[in-house]
Amino acid sequence: MDSNCIFCKINVGEIPGDFVYRDSDTFVIRDIAPKAPVHLLVIPTVHVERIAEFCCEDFSIVSAMFRAAKEAVQIEGIAERGYRLIINQGEEGGQEVPHLHMHVLGGMHLRAMGMG
Ligand code: 5GP
Ligand code: ZN
Repeated sequence: MDSNCIFCKINVGEIPGDFVYRDSDTFVIRDIAPKAPVHLLVIPTVHVERIAEFCCEDFSIVSAMFRAAKEAVQIEGIAERGYRLIINQGEEGGQEVPHLHMHVLGGMHLRAMGMG
């Protein structure tokens, strides 16, 4: 828990979040400024800023994030249609919130909308 971190505050209920999924290692919320009809954030419960800070044991977080993403896309009904997973890292990567998270974008054809 980082007391200055938005995502840590959402995790403990200090700031409201629209939760889609939660397990012992992760939680998934809707992005407050969605860039697609489905825009989720898959967030590890532990506060880690980015993968450059990882030690060996932290890599289990990555599998937990993918497990949560799999559950969340099934809940949202986009598992078969397809979606995009994005992890921004650091300043040049466009990371605004310094708590590791994975974006799940879907619900529309992303290529047709000029998003890659
Ligand atoms: P980043 O640029 O760090 O990869 O993505 C941060 C994301 O967090 C942005 O898409 C932004 O809209 C979202 N975000 C920022 N503050 C909040 C918040 O308080 N609640 C939620 N649900 N999303 C937030
Ligand atoms: Zn945090």
